[in-house]
Amino acid sequence: MALQFTNTMGGKKEEFHPLNPPNVGMYTCGPTVYDFAHIGNFRTYLFEDILRRYLIYRGYRVFQVMNLTDVEDKIIRAAQSKGISIFEHTRPYIEAFFEDLDTLRIQRAEVYPRATDHIPEMLEIIRILREKGHTYESEGSIYYRISTFPRYGALSGITPDSVKVGARVDQDEYEKEDARDFVLWKARKEGEHFWQTEYGEGRPGWHIECSAMSRKYLGDTFDIHCGGEDNIFPHHENEIAQCEAATGKPFVKYWLHSRHLMVEGEKMSKSKGNFYTLRDLLQKGHSALAIRYFLLSGYYRVQLNLTEDGLHAAHQAWRRLMDFRRRLVETQEKAPEGPLSEEARAIAEKGLRGFEEHMDDDLNTPQALGEVFDFVRDANRFLDRDVATKADARHFLAILMRIDTVLAVLKEEQKSFDAEIESLIAERQEARKNRNWARADAIRDQLAAQGIVLEDTRDGVRWKREG
Ligand code: AMP
Ligand code: ZN
Repeated sequence: MALQFTNTMGGKKEEFHPLNPPNVGMYTCGPTVYDFAHIGNFRTYLFEDILRRYLIYRGYRVFQVMNLTDVEDKIIRAAQSKGISIFEHTRPYIEAFFEDLDTLRIQRAEVYPRATDHIPEMLEIIRILREKGHTYESEGSIYYRISTFPRYGALSGITPDSVKVGARVDQDEYEKEDARDFVLWKARKEGEHFWQTEYGEGRPGWHIECSAMSRKYLGDTFDIHCGGEDNIFPHHENEIAQCEAATGKPFVKYWLHSRHLMVEGEKMSKSKGNFYTLRDLLQKGHSALAIRYFLLSGYYRVQLNLTEDGLHAAHQAWRRLMDFRRRLVETQEKAPEGPLSEEARAIAEKGLRGFEEHMDDDLNTPQALGEVFDFVRDANRFLDRDVATKADARHFLAILMRIDTVLAVLKEEQKSFDAEIESLIAERQEARKNRNWARADAIRDQLAAQGIVLEDTRDGVRWKREG
């Protein structure tokens, strides 16, 4: 079976065919860094990690962009109340976010652009939208006039007529002609962080941030855009309206959205006292990998309910996988030499095929894990008979670890491999040759983030690890 995903645009399962195979460009809405990310956010980031890892498993070369929303209403309010700058306010939460990603073994994206570093790119889209007649000004702010974009609502099924005020950025008291319109650029308000621009002093709206950063790093049209279900409307609907109206091209080929994480059957909220960060759960004694296992054990298109029992069951299942791995390592050492048996080969083959078949089917992780546990059971029975050779155990272990390149719950991973670095450098040279500076810079930044320093020499590019 071919790899397929449910595309929120159209609501059907579709075979996955990227625009420029084997490359896949993927934009994942990142955190608004006004506080610690909560465990619900991590459900979405973990789903995106599984997607990314499975694409790599299937031979694709993924270029993932995850933005950091570091200027936004909540950030501004929080910074104001503490009497510090937005940058001072967001810095510790950005650090905490990366620590949490590592704790959950979420692979790093290729770039993590910050909204505050991309104001010119946002202004550029706003300029095009203005020229094309999609905007109007009111009291120094610039709005997008939804009535100029007939396809509005295609993603969410929400038609302009049924759009209600109240969603996130649209709540501001700024004057709009029509309650359904959304703000692109907000006039400066007393005490707020602002930028001096051709439109006067102000700051960007939230939606334009993602449009500008996706366009800069992935181009006008790219393969996959993800987020949690709350992003579908209005955020992603507005991104489509901005980008497609500005470029005249299709924006995204596949839209993938994860359903929310609930806690004991309820929406997480601070007032209900059921609001958890990853750190809260670790402090309660849950282990990071059992939490990772729990988050990946649900199908991303179904709500996942966080409960003590669920976390406990995840811990047990994860332990079983760890025990199986240990048994294979021991058997590999102790068992007699001998050829790989047909029976062991067949058990492993069935497990691997089953895993792939369900992952191909819209990343159905619960079904895929079911196949993995059938494999564990069958292999354990085989090992119980004391007929296994070193080669049998080695083969089982190889298959298990291959599956774990996606699940990432078993083995400590080396962060960056030399071959990966070399290939990124080659890609950067290629981008420079094609005068694709954005891509070349993005790759340099990604390498820098991993502590890799590039040196341009007469013989080409050399690299070394810092420190
Ligand atoms: P935010 O920091 O609010 O912009 O959210 C970051 C990401 O987390 C977005 O993709 C949201 O859709 C997602 N998200 C927010 N709440 C939840 C939740 N309870 N379960 C799963 N994903 C969520
Ligand atoms: Zn976004």
